[in-house]
Amino acid sequence: MFEDLIREMERMNGQSVAVPIETDGNGYIDKQCPSEGCEFIFKVNGEDWSNIFKDEAVWCPFCRHEAPADQWFTIEQVEHAKAEALAVVKGEINSALRSGAQKYNRKQPKNSFISMSMTVSGGTKRTHTISAKAAELMQLEIQCESCNSRFAVIGSAYFCPACGYNSVTRTFSDSLRKIRAKKESVEIVRKTINETVGKDEAELTCRSLIETCISDGVVAFQKYCEGLYEPYGQAPFNAFQRLDQASSLWESAIQKGFSSWLSNDEINTLNILYQKRHLLAHNEGIIDLKYIQKSGDISYKEGQRIVISESDIDFLVSALEKLSKGIGAECNNA
Ligand SMILES: [Zn+2]
Ligand SMILES: [Zn+2]
Repeated sequence: MFEDLIREMERMNGQSVAVPIETDGNGYIDKQCPSEGCEFIFKVNGEDWSNIFKDEAVWCPFCRHEAPADQWFTIEQVEHAKAEALAVVKGEINSALRSGAQKYNRKQPKNSFISMSMTVSGGTKRTHTISAKAAELMQLEIQCESCNSRFAVIGSAYFCPACGYNSVTRTFSDSLRKIRAKKESVEIVRKTINETVGKDEAELTCRSLIETCISDGVVAFQKYCEGLYEPYGQAPFNAFQRLDQASSLWESAIQKGFSSWLSNDEINTLNILYQKRHLLAHNEGIIDLKYIQKSGDISYKEGQRIVISESDIDFLVSALEKLSKGIGAECNNA
C-alpha cells in the first residue's frame, strides 16, 4: 500500500520547488544585501531586473558589496520559500499516502466479515506554492544616471545596484535631505529622551544632533566638490573643506567663484559656520583667537563656547544647495 508513496518520493528526489516572488504595487521586487554586516533591504524594478541587471554582479546600494544576482533574495523570501517547499513536499507525501490508502481500501473485499479501512488524516493536500508577498512600497525611487535602472530604498542609497555607479549629485542631495530630517526630528528626540531618561541627556543628545548637522553639511559639500572637480585635476587634500580655497579652485576651473551664487553677507555667514565646524572638530567648540580672526565673528569672546541654532542649519543647507546647483550646472555645460 505504500507503493504510491515510494514512487512519489522517488519522483521528488532531486526535484526543486519553484516559489514565485511577487512584485509590489509599483512593479518592484524586494532584494537584500547578502553581506552579513549590512543586510540592507531595497527594491529593484522588475523589468529592469530582467533587462538591465547582470547575472554576474549586483551591488548593494548601501555598502557596494558585490555578488552574483542569485544571492540577493531577502531573508524573508528565503524563509518563505523554505516553508513553501516543506508544505509542498508534505502535500505530495500526503496525497501519495491518501491514494495508497484509497487503493488499499478498495482492495478490501466488500462482503468481508471484518472490514478494515485506512484513512490519512492531517495536513491539507497542497502541491502548489504560494508566492512571496512583496514588502510595502518604498518612498525613495531612484533612477541611475549611468545605466537607467530603477530601484527604491528607505533612507538613502549611494550606489546603483545594477552597475555600482555612485552618483555624486544624488549622494549630495541625499545628505542634505538627511540633515533636514535630523534637524526636524530634534524635538521628537528631545521629548522622547526627556520622558524616558531625563532632561540632561535630552539636552546633550539634541545639542549634539544639531552640531553634527554642520559637519555633515561641510563634508557632504566637500565630497560633492571633489567628485565634480575630478575632470579639472587634482585638488589639494581637504581643500574643499575650506570655503575660500574651494571658491578659488572653482574660480580657476569654471571661471565662477562662490560670489556668483551667494551674496557677500551669505558668504560671510557661511564662513562663520565653516569656522564653527572647525572649532567643534578640533577644539570642543571653545572659541580661540584663530576663530575670531578667521570668521570675523565678534559676537563671542575667547574661551566662550559656540552655539549652533536650528536656523544655522537651515541657512547652511540652503547656501550649500545654491552653491551645488550653480557648480553642477556649470560642470554639466562644460
Ligand atoms: Zn550592503
Ligand atoms: Zn546604474
